[in-house]
Amino acid sequence: MSKNKVFGAHEWADKTANCINGCKHDCKYCYSKSMAIRFKRKTPKNWKNEEIREQQLNKKFGKHSGSYMYPSSHDIHPDNLDENIKFLNNLLISGNQILIVSKPHLICIKTICKKFIKYKKQILFRFTIGSADSEVLKFWEPGAPDFEERLKCLKFAYDKGFETSISCEPMLDDKIYMVIDKVLSFTTDAVWLGKANFLLGRLKMNGHKDKKSIKKAEELIKWQSDENIIPLYNKYKDNPKIKWKESIKKVVGLDLLTVRGLDI
Ligand code: SF4
Repeated sequence: MSKNKVFGAHEWADKTANCINGCKHDCKYCYSKSMAIRFKRKTPKNWKNEEIREQQLNKKFGKHSGSYMYPSSHDIHPDNLDENIKFLNNLLISGNQILIVSKPHLICIKTICKKFIKYKKQILFRFTIGSADSEVLKFWEPGAPDFEERLKCLKFAYDKGFETSISCEPMLDDKIYMVIDKVLSFTTDAVWLGKANFLLGRLKMNGHKDKKSIKKAEELIKWQSDENIIPLYNKYKDNPKIKWKESIKKVVGLDLLTVRGLDI
């Protein structure tokens, strides 16, 4: 019997949870934005306007045997921190394991670490850092923090004794070793590398059809061609802390996952 291949968020966690529609970070390549536009829940312009999902916010969770990735279709920032804290609390008090995925703001990570210190063992942070160049981050992820702030968040969580990991998905330039060099010693778990998937289609759906965006996307697609991915894999393949998303596994011939949430 053929089994379905697992990709995206489900490589990391078997369940996802969210309590907000829209995202102020407004990343150009955002999958959730493209889906919201496709199904007419949002437009390219109003994706940035967040709406709290009150019903989700007040939901009581049971204990799930696997893990939750939170959030998977929005992010945590100072303006929505209170709601995110409330939602996280609801998940944590039931004993759930949570993978907190974020382009992190320092004030938010400090607050989460302080508030949930007693749930430390139920939390694994995964901070998204696709480039060590803040100009590159600004172009692709205009509402998100710069590199220095994300690195400070990593160091802070690590110093407080939380489990930490990094997502370099999507890698946003051809110098991802610069991110790896800076983050590895503060990462207790893993650094994940992955390509930008369906980039041109996403940009068009998300309203970024301008010449500059298309040119930058074409540059990125060239950087993540097989002839560049294979040397990258060879450079890090023996490092047990470097892990590969499905987009790279299939280029280098690694087995693809068929079970959700294994995080390997
Ligand atoms: S932070 Fe995540 S959810 Fe928000 S716009 Fe960026 S990719 Fe989308």
